[in-house]
Amino acid sequence: MTKRAYNFNAGPAALPLEVLQQAQEEFVDYRGIGMSIMEISHRSKEYEQVNDEAQSLVKELLGVPDGYQVLFLQGGASTQFAMIPMNFLKPGQAGGYVLTGSWADKAYKEAKGIGETYVAATGEASGFRRMPALGEIDVQPEAAYIHLTSNETIAGSQFADFPDTGNVPLIGDFSSDILCRPTDVSKFSLIYAGAQKNLGPSGVTVVIVRDELVERANKNLPTMLRFDTHAQSKSLYNTPPVYSVYIANLVLKWIKATGGLEAMERINRDKTKLIYDAIDGSGGFYRGLVEPDSRSLMNITFALGSEELEAQFIKESAQQGFVGLKGHRDVGHMRASTYNAVPYESCKALADFMNDFRRRNG
Ligand SMILES: *Cc1c(COP(=O)(O)O)cnc(C)c1O
Repeated sequence: MTKRAYNFNAGPAALPLEVLQQAQEEFVDYRGIGMSIMEISHRSKEYEQVNDEAQSLVKELLGVPDGYQVLFLQGGASTQFAMIPMNFLKPGQAGGYVLTGSWADKAYKEAKGIGETYVAATGEASGFRRMPALGEIDVQPEAAYIHLTSNETIAGSQFADFPDTGNVPLIGDFSSDILCRPTDVSKFSLIYAGAQKNLGPSGVTVVIVRDELVERANKNLPTMLRFDTHAQSKSLYNTPPVYSVYIANLVLKWIKATGGLEAMERINRDKTKLIYDAIDGSGGFYRGLVEPDSRSLMNITFALGSEELEAQFIKESAQQGFVGLKGHRDVGHMRASTYNAVPYESCKALADFMNDFRRRNG
């Protein structure tokens, strides 16, 4: 038996063991072809099946309505920060940005350099301890779009629900929580997610986009930066990140076999409850960094009473096989990333460790 760490890394992050094992089995000889999936053309029937199947599984799992396409792009979510304003900001129209933390801020700053923008809501006054209430989002009727970040990976906050923006297209960065729970895709005109947190390895970015939005996009752009290039070629305009899409395909099948997104949400709630309970039941020994109604199912952030105690927590937890618990350098403290592939047992072990550490140091 291979020894697996209690992996709470923020990204790249844990993958399901079953997926890694299947990939290992097929690594040298992909389903009897005598070559790996990486060694054949992206236009072969084998790869085309991987690509088509992954696209239809995204649609099936999320219940994506007709009139949308699923794209597999490169350049990470960070390239989407630029591609979105380049394609959808027209002169005289501003993109509204919901500022909820570091990632929303990066998207906003990138767009500001490309076209007109406005701040549709900001959590700055609360130190990004909560997501804005839906009524606090300023949806200007003439806006090109509203951009929000579904889950702030660094702060540890997540929208519980999404606004209805009427005729104004809603765009969501779902990089750290895509497929963690059922999601009403019809509220969005575009959803994007770098795969390396909740969907697979790095190297592929999933985009779910309404055909109508693609049709309206700016055509005066470099070929690779146009959404219509990829929409018209089933994401096979140029060589795609074959291995990343292949692994994402296996992860999608694993989610389906686990029971789909309802099951995923139930498991994620059970997992995170263990850790949030350890925080809330600690009499102030652990302090959550986010208001309870904005807490994330994917990234749990908390602090201890002093830097020394936090250093001790990191050191002792590492000795017991826990990985990735140090908070992001921008906010410090602790962060446990509990993505879909992080097993319940890892979360149970962490909650037990937290309770034990508190008893010994409280
Ligand atoms: C990680 C992350 C990004 C950046 O993703 P890259 O693929 O590295 O560009 C953007 N947004 C969110 C919410 C993230 O968690």
